[in-house]
Amino acid sequence: MTDTITIERARVWDVALPLSVPFAISGGVLRVRRSLIVELCTGDGAIGFGESAPFELPFYSSETVESARWMLETVLLPRLVGRTLKTPLDADAILQTGVRGNAFARAGAETAVWDLFCHRRHVTLLDLIADTLRRMGVHERHIAARDRVPCGVALGIPDDGATATLASWTREALAHGYRRVKIKIRPGWDVEPIRAVRDALASCGRPLLFWADANASYDLERDAAALRAIDAEGLLFIEQPLQHDDLVDHAALSARLRTPVCLDESLRDARWARHALKLGASRIWNIKVQRLGGLAEALRVYAVAAAQDVTLWGGTMPETGIGAQAILALGALPRFVYPTDVEPSDRWYASGTDPLPLVMAADGTMDVPHATGLAALGVGDRVRERGSLVWSS
Ligand code: MG
Repeated sequence: MTDTITIERARVWDVALPLSVPFAISGGVLRVRRSLIVELCTGDGAIGFGESAPFELPFYSSETVESARWMLETVLLPRLVGRTLKTPLDADAILQTGVRGNAFARAGAETAVWDLFCHRRHVTLLDLIADTLRRMGVHERHIAARDRVPCGVALGIPDDGATATLASWTREALAHGYRRVKIKIRPGWDVEPIRAVRDALASCGRPLLFWADANASYDLERDAAALRAIDAEGLLFIEQPLQHDDLVDHAALSARLRTPVCLDESLRDARWARHALKLGASRIWNIKVQRLGGLAEALRVYAVAAAQDVTLWGGTMPETGIGAQAILALGALPRFVYPTDVEPSDRWYASGTDPLPLVMAADGTMDVPHATGLAALGVGDRVRERGSLVWSS
């Protein structure tokens, strides 16, 4: 796998998927999920697709759909067009030089390059990832992959604020076959909903993996009592309890709690991952390809995790099926221990609108991507049908 590729053309598509359930955020209610699809072409007919999937407002990341679009059109894609690449890692180096942050924008361009290599070389994304990990010196026992990825459900905070609603959602999720349940918590909505979900799981006789995601809503000192109360509930772990850019307080919290602490928002790149270990902040990490700026950085974090026996699992924004391919391929690797956040397309989007529909089997698993490039699946036609072309090189 040594032949080079030269990128001849780049395009950006704005795709708007109607949400099947409106999504409440601090700035209002989202009824449509907008996302950016990046398309890259070589002169000899290979095509690659990637996705940049921040939200329209900066409540999860500092980036937005508009900021990512500007970065892609003005800074990132003009750098790639005309360049000859030996490996997908070359693209990451080009995209990171002189660019701070903007991980979601970089991820759109970077993952399109990986897909372009898959199409051009007739290899699957997992094969390309495994080959790259070997070159990075990761031991073979951390590369041998499974062929299906287990999926979990993420349950938000019900509009009616009723734990009975959450319990009913839990029973529905069990009926769909999900392999684990994660709920969103925040100060004032934690112990009672945790107990309601645990009771619902027990009444169904399915002792599923169960954890809570705080999305950075607690403060180490202000919420000390609430964090102690959550600790007493015996969760598998608590995801990102403290501030989105914090490691130090997470280390202090880890020392106080019996419940393991998992990092999501704070796990920015491989350097932050190493610092999290040095500080003792966390040994369970949520890998999001968007937040990390693409697959190259995700693999560097994977190499740290493999060397230090850190437990991983895959998170989503969620993306469309196009963006989800990267985490579905990573999720097949052995250090990905807990079920991924990837859910079937119909859970989030109006039926038939996802340009690459994700389907979950009755046993709560999804296929590891086996296409040799998304173009081979007809993704291009569906992006052209459903998206608006907003930029072309
Ligand atoms: Mg999270």
